[in-house]
Amino acid sequence: MNLGILVSYVTLAVFGLAFGSFLNVCIFRLPRGESVIAPRSHCPRCSKPIRWYDNIPVLSYLLLGGRCRDCRERISPIYPAVEILTAAILVATFVRYALSPEFVKYAVLGMLLLIVIFTDLTARRIPQPVTLLGMGLGLLLSVIVPVDNRPLEWVLRWFGIFPEGVTSSLLGSVAGALFGGGLFYAAGQAFYYLGRRQKEYLGFGDVMLMLMVGTFLGVPLTLVTMFLGSLVGSLIALPLEIITRRFRGYHWPYGSFLGTAAIYAALGGQALLDAYLRWSGLAG
Ligand SMILES: [Zn+2]
Repeated sequence: MNLGILVSYVTLAVFGLAFGSFLNVCIFRLPRGESVIAPRSHCPRCSKPIRWYDNIPVLSYLLLGGRCRDCRERISPIYPAVEILTAAILVATFVRYALSPEFVKYAVLGMLLLIVIFTDLTARRIPQPVTLLGMGLGLLLSVIVPVDNRPLEWVLRWFGIFPEGVTSSLLGSVAGALFGGGLFYAAGQAFYYLGRRQKEYLGFGDVMLMLMVGTFLGVPLTLVTMFLGSLVGSLIALPLEIITRRFRGYHWPYGSFLGTAAIYAALGGQALLDAYLRWSGLAG
């Protein structure tokens, strides 16, 4: 590995740790409807403000042994985990896309998804400020990074409409949102009318999440996200619900599964899709 690349990795990882620190503020404050800008971070038990030298990503957590300096209250290991994951996402996105518009787009998506994954995991909430901001950014970024719009182009061709360039990309972004959000809305309604388990399982937050993911990924990769998210979710949830009483009727954080699947789709989904299309003989 040459020195230039190593320096880029380390620089991105340091930025990732710092961004991760801010994502933590979002993860712990947004579900409670608190501002992410003010006041300064403080210990939830003794309310003492966190000193700057106790607020260094990962390092401070290790030096303090995962406890508050003042009252020795345990600090959630989610803090250092999110910081490390943010660094990992930036480095992985750089490995996949190098320094390009794609890198910016998928790094932004990855960080938005990290917030959703952990708010759903810790509070069973998917904050609307995040998904709404995400939808706006997804649409905006589709102007710079083309979204795969082949499914809609295929449909529009029958009507003699041939969108091109930025128009096609924007349409692909909107189509992805309507596809992802629409399917989840329909599934939520179906569960509701079938009268079992109700909308608790597929809440409106999941619909908003899939609207956001759709604007970034377009229809094909949104499909990959939903397929992998449901598959992984079922593989984890079903055995646990069957084996142990504790998890029967448990409220699973499906947004966390979907968010994780969307990060995978953004980085490796196209390769997976191409491999599937070759294998099934649908390509070419
Ligand atoms: Zn404290």
